[in-house]
Amino acid sequence: MPAHLGVVGFGAMGSEIALLGACAGFPVTAYDKFPEALDNGRPRLARLLKLLSRDPKFFAAARIADDAARQAVLDGIGTTSELPGLAACDFIIEAAPELPELKRSLLSELDGILAGDAVIASNTSSISISELAASTANPGRVVGMHFFNPPTAMGLVEVIPGSATDEPTVEAAAALAQQLGKKPVRVKDTPGFVVNRVLLAMMTEAIRLAEEGVASIPDIDEAMKLGAGFPMGPFKLADLVGLDVIEHACESIHRELGDPKFSPPESLRQLVRDGHLGRKTRQGFYKN
Ligand code: NAD
Repeated sequence: MPAHLGVVGFGAMGSEIALLGACAGFPVTAYDKFPEALDNGRPRLARLLKLLSRDPKFFAAARIADDAARQAVLDGIGTTSELPGLAACDFIIEAAPELPELKRSLLSELDGILAGDAVIASNTSSISISELAASTANPGRVVGMHFFNPPTAMGLVEVIPGSATDEPTVEAAAALAQQLGKKPVRVKDTPGFVVNRVLLAMMTEAIRLAEEGVASIPDIDEAMKLGAGFPMGPFKLADLVGLDVIEHACESIHRELGDPKFSPPESLRQLVRDGHLGRKTRQGFYKN
């Protein structure tokens, strides 16, 4: 069990992962290069914590029942805009932007700052864990921990060993996922891991069916809800995730596997070119 959790990047994923850690009772320090990201994150987490306290199924519901308890959880998250501020952490979850060079350089710096037995987990969606680990002198301590958006609501963490990851590192990541209220699933270091590989294959297929005029977008969504038991159809989900994120993930898997199924369909590319990115711009496959 980590004595002190560190989080790199206080954006959509990192801030909620930090909150999960604090809810689980760990002291947490979050690093973001941009102080305004740290300042903006705090009030957002306070609002989210209040919402979570109304959900009896939230893993830490009992710990955040009243204002004082919620404040104590929030106070358990320290912040820093200097990477060496994470030196005391023995388990880091990196959730910086999905830029390979940036992540490699952060991991390499962390490797020099942290104690030798600290674990470094990356929340990358698409970069090879072995490749990231190779930027450190100690790849045995590097592992993938792929959370899903939003981390406080989604129940899964894909745990991804790289080619040089030590078994105790993998076990520590799986144990931490459980302590954060998640189900860990062990997955090989392969493009898209499990969930994105399956999901993106389905989304690109659904988009091509609409392009071919086989059925309308709302009808394909309805078909997948009622015929396959999905909570929402692939187009609704794509709008929710963000069409730029989907396009980028498709390109990355396509580049690695060479499978034309993952090549971003033209109508997806066009929406992204037009700045229609889904819910975040209020227009995607649907008007949101
Ligand atoms: P985001 O843009 O919301 O957050 C990134 C944060 O990193 C920002 O707060 C930014 O200020 C900070 N940052 C920028 N440069 C930095 C640096 N040099 N050092 C430290 N922090 C820096 O991004 P996100 O959606 O939270 O994604 C973070 C990671 O999580 C990515 O690797 C992404 O692929 C992965 N991920 C995202 C999702 C998702 O749906 N958003 C799901 C699973 C995994």
